[in-house]
Amino acid sequence: MHASPFVTVVALLLLGARAEQTEQGEAALTDDTAQCAPYSIALVTNALSSFPTIGQPVLSIPANDTVALAKFNAITGIPNIAPKGVNGTLSNDTINNYPATDPDCWWTSSDCVTPKVSGLAPDISSVPEPRTLGYGFDDGPFCSHNEFYNYLSAQNQKATMFYIGTNVMWFPLQAQRAAADGHQICVHTWSHRAMTALTNEAAFAELYYTIQAIKLVTGVTPQCWRPPMGDVDDRIRYIASKLNLETILWKYDSFDWKVASGQATTADVTANYQSLITAVGAGTFDTVGAIMLTHELTNYTMQTAVDNYPKLAEAFDHLVPIAVAQNKTQPYAETNVTFPSFAAYVSSRSSGGSNSTSSSGAAGGSGSAKGSSPSSGSSQGTTGSSGAVSLQLSYASSGLVAALTLLGAILAL
Ligand SMILES: [Zn+2]
Repeated sequence: MHASPFVTVVALLLLGARAEQTEQGEAALTDDTAQCAPYSIALVTNALSSFPTIGQPVLSIPANDTVALAKFNAITGIPNIAPKGVNGTLSNDTINNYPATDPDCWWTSSDCVTPKVSGLAPDISSVPEPRTLGYGFDDGPFCSHNEFYNYLSAQNQKATMFYIGTNVMWFPLQAQRAAADGHQICVHTWSHRAMTALTNEAAFAELYYTIQAIKLVTGVTPQCWRPPMGDVDDRIRYIASKLNLETILWKYDSFDWKVASGQATTADVTANYQSLITAVGAGTFDTVGAIMLTHELTNYTMQTAVDNYPKLAEAFDHLVPIAVAQNKTQPYAETNVTFPSFAAYVSSRSSGGSNSTSSSGAAGGSGSAKGSSPSSGSSQGTTGSSGAVSLQLSYASSGLVAALTLLGAILAL
């Protein structure tokens, strides 16, 4: 005997969940409340026992995860630098008493990007291609990002997305969309704490489980990460390097993340974008390109990104994902997933063609191998045709989004 559709709908309503959704189905939603309605997919629910609690800091490796424990215990030579706080919160004493000589190359104190521990690669805070912006967004996947991602697709524009592990587990279909759209995915830790204020094990776990979440959901293993708040020192760089993660920072900050908490005005953010654009005209990036910190944290930050896209595209010669600016055609551990070289990306854009990533095989998680971009093939935003597009975003009123927005404000940057 089959349940009637009515009975099925009532059952789903009683359960408070939607039927198993697909990446394409989720990507087709444009209403904020619909996008942000809770859902679950078997890919994630079946793997929950292999992950720490979603939405909480992971302060130690779960005792039953022998694989992770073995990986962590195999790391030797971690620089003997004390945590700069407790449980991911920086200590004011540490901040105030930290030596001006900056012995740990602590970015939070000095913007240091050249490690003092030998053997560690410098952080990436600019891109090698001149007059180029390494284009990226932190703190996703945000549940209501479809209109923003639709806009990027309409511009045939790829970006680097620094994803929070917990968000990936909450919104796996949104993360799958990023992979399907050809964006580069990097790690932004499991719970967005100050990494230098964590023990070695907790810092490892924050990175490791985010890598695992992204691999589970999108099928790719990221090899780049950005420290929340830029908080990194040589101890954390060392642990990240043992997980094959390159540390990516920035030199310019839009401060879009400060608006939600009232620490900055929208006019401030507009001015920050404008000063970057002015610097392009002044020749600041004639030898090396730029990276600016921007977010998909809230509807405001995404709308601001859209509003400023045509201006950035006109000012810079090229807007490209950071891997493309680095000419990394295999940015993931999976060598069958390839990105275009810088030359190929630029060439395909100037001809209006597709520059999507390609995969010679199933990349893993369902929906992750859509392959081609839904791009309209439109040319660079300098045409101005996109300038008038408004996402018409509005904050959804559901408690979940309110909670997420609040969390985002707390986690901001
Ligand atoms: Zn962040």
